[in-house]
Amino acid sequence: MTVQQQETLAARQGEPLVVLDGVNKWFGDLHVLQDINQTIHRGEVVVVIGPSGSGKSTLCRAINRLETIQEGTITLDGKPLPQEGKELAALRAEVGMVFQSFNLFAHKTILENVTLGPIKVRGQKKDEADKRAKELLDRVGVGHQAAKYPAQLSGGQQQRVAIARALAMNPKVMLFDEPTSALDPEMIKEVLDVMVDLAKQGMTMVVVTHEMGFARTAADRVLFMADGAVVEENTPEEFFTNPQSDRAKDFLGKIL
Ligand code: ADP
Ligand code: MG
Repeated sequence: MTVQQQETLAARQGEPLVVLDGVNKWFGDLHVLQDINQTIHRGEVVVVIGPSGSGKSTLCRAINRLETIQEGTITLDGKPLPQEGKELAALRAEVGMVFQSFNLFAHKTILENVTLGPIKVRGQKKDEADKRAKELLDRVGVGHQAAKYPAQLSGGQQQRVAIARALAMNPKVMLFDEPTSALDPEMIKEVLDVMVDLAKQGMTMVVVTHEMGFARTAADRVLFMADGAVVEENTPEEFFTNPQSDRAKDFLGKIL
C-alpha cells in the first residue's frame, strides 16, 4: 500500500469496534485461525475473501461466539466477548449474522421471524416490535410479504428478511457469510443492493463474499485469507488490480 492509500484508509476509519488480538483456534490438529490481529472500525466495511476452507466462516462465527477460540482475545466495543448465559444472548443481538442458508423459522410468518428476537431478547412490546419490523421489511423491499411464510418467498426475498431480522436487534456490527452463494443469479443483485444501502448508511459490516462488484462498491478494506491466516490486506482497488501474494494471484485468477 502507498502512503497515500494508507492515509485514505485511515481517514475513513472510525473508532475500534471489533478487535481481534492474537486470535488462534484449532479444530483438533487443524490450525484453523492463525494469529489473527485485526481491528474493525465503526462504520467500516470489511470484505473477507479466500479459498474454500481458509477459515472465513470460522472467523465470522468466532466474532459472535458461535465458536470458541483457544488463544487471544476478541472485544466488541471494548468489552471481551462473554462466555455464556444472558450476556451471550445479548452479544448475539449486538452482532447480527446472515448466513448462506437463510435460516428463517419455517413455521413463523415473515413478520414473526423479525419480531421474535426483539420481543424475547430485547423485551420489546409486540406493537412496538411489529411497527419496527414493518419498517425494516419495507426497507428491504418485502413489506407486502409480512403475513406469508418463508417457503412462500423466493430465496432472494428470504435472504432480505434474514437481513431485516438481524437489523431488528439494532446490532453494532453485521456479519454476512456468503449471503448470496445459495441464490439464483437473478436474485443476487436484490440482496447486494440492500447490503450496499446498509453500508452507505454507516453500518459496520464484515462480509464474506466473492462478489467483486460488491467489494469494489462497498468495501473499505479487503482481507484475503488462506490456510487460516490473513495473508493480504488492502483497499479493494489495490487488491483486485495488484494482488501481492502468489496465493491471492492464484485465487483471483480462478474467480475473475
Ligand atoms: P471457509 O469458510 O473459508 O470455507 P471454514 O471456516 O468453514 O472455511 O473452515 C475452515 C477449516 O476448518 C476447513 O478445513 C473446515 O473443514 C474446518 N472446520 C470447520 N468447522 C469445523 C468443525 N466444526 N470441526 C472440524 N473442522 C472444522
Ligand atoms: Mg465458509
